[in-house]
Amino acid sequence: MSDRLLSYAEAVEKVVAYARSLPLPAAESVALDAAYGRVLVQPILADEDQPPFARSTRDGFACRAAEASAHANLPVAGFTRAGDPPPPPLPPTAFWEIMTGAPLPAGADAVAMLEYVERSGSLARLLPPRTLAHGDNLVAQGAQARAGDTLLPVGARLGPAQIALAAACGYAKVVVYAQPRVAILTTGDELVPVDAVPEPGQIRNSNASMLAALVAATGGLPRVLPNAADSPDALDAALASALDADLLLLSGGVSAGTHDLVEPALARLGARFRFTGVRIQPGKPLVFGEVPRGNRVLPFFGLPGNPISSAATFLLFAAQVLGALSGAHRIGPHFVAAQLAHATDRKAKPGLTRFLPAHCDFAQPGGALPQVIAVPWHGSGDMPAFARANCFLVVPEDAGILDAGALVRILLF
Ligand code: AMP
Ligand code: MG
Repeated sequence: MSDRLLSYAEAVEKVVAYARSLPLPAAESVALDAAYGRVLVQPILADEDQPPFARSTRDGFACRAAEASAHANLPVAGFTRAGDPPPPPLPPTAFWEIMTGAPLPAGADAVAMLEYVERSGSLARLLPPRTLAHGDNLVAQGAQARAGDTLLPVGARLGPAQIALAAACGYAKVVVYAQPRVAILTTGDELVPVDAVPEPGQIRNSNASMLAALVAATGGLPRVLPNAADSPDALDAALASALDADLLLLSGGVSAGTHDLVEPALARLGARFRFTGVRIQPGKPLVFGEVPRGNRVLPFFGLPGNPISSAATFLLFAAQVLGALSGAHRIGPHFVAAQLAHATDRKAKPGLTRFLPAHCDFAQPGGALPQVIAVPWHGSGDMPAFARANCFLVVPEDAGILDAGALVRILLF
């Protein structure tokens, strides 16, 4: 193994630093209901107090806590449903029947839950031994936010909770970063399209579909180009059609074989290579750099063609650049802690950080840590094994064998 190759840590540091140096993407306005996963360019402000009126959080009886806690029968002075206008002020020593989400009458400082109230005709009383304290079962106007407060900052990613908040504040449209366009160019004479029947010696092009899924899941807009044959002319023509993308992913043709023509083709475009090769397994031949395009550059990753190598190097490296291109503020592979259920095999690979396809089971009784098991596999082309995995298990450089029960890091996908 060559000492020139970067370690995993060095390579990921280079990629993350590069990702952070990229200019921010353009902004566009999209319908809120189509904005899931996008990153905000505008802050989300509260258009009014949240909640906009003091409201009940229970079906029951609005009251003064001290009066109700005396357990006397009090008159029920009225009834307000969710959606009704705010009722008049609560008369002295009275209940006001109310539903969850309805505005409280002024003067009420608590809501007695329906379950704990005994109603007889127009009278009601709080059943002993229950008592009420000021503020029980209600949310005061503005308790959650004040009109004009910034509720989501620029750079926040819109998940379900953030979309709900934007909707509550009246944002039918939001200004978000444009999605990066990602060109996907697979290479290899042996590859046929997914709807073709391979001749002897041929295989179907699975990386195109897999990478398109990974790109979409990472916030990019995939554009799958026709597979390129292993010839300089075919590669030059294919690359020419990819140059208008924001990120270029190539698959295959980057190891040291005589048909590995991707690097020379990129070099003919004036590519600057930031690294060629990383001390990882799988994925060692990974290539990362950029092609000049006028006053801009096109970042590229040359992913090794074996499907598990392509997936690992995408998730570890390319996903960070794609994240930055989609406006994400938190960049970097995000690992999760888990406990190893079985010792890893003894095939140590000195000097390589390994990313083994693994299955992590999060459904642990009694608060135990998620349990992870490396999936038995026949190398980085083993797609049936990969499809049984839901993460990569990190085996640090020179760790050798990892014992059962060890605390490990995993990268979910
Ligand atoms: P390469 O990186 O081009 O040397 O390819 C390494 C291995 O991955 C070979 O067995 C290829 O047939 C396989 N491979 C390359 N590209 C793809 C692809 N797009 N889909 C499925 N397998 C591929
Ligand atoms: Mg190839």
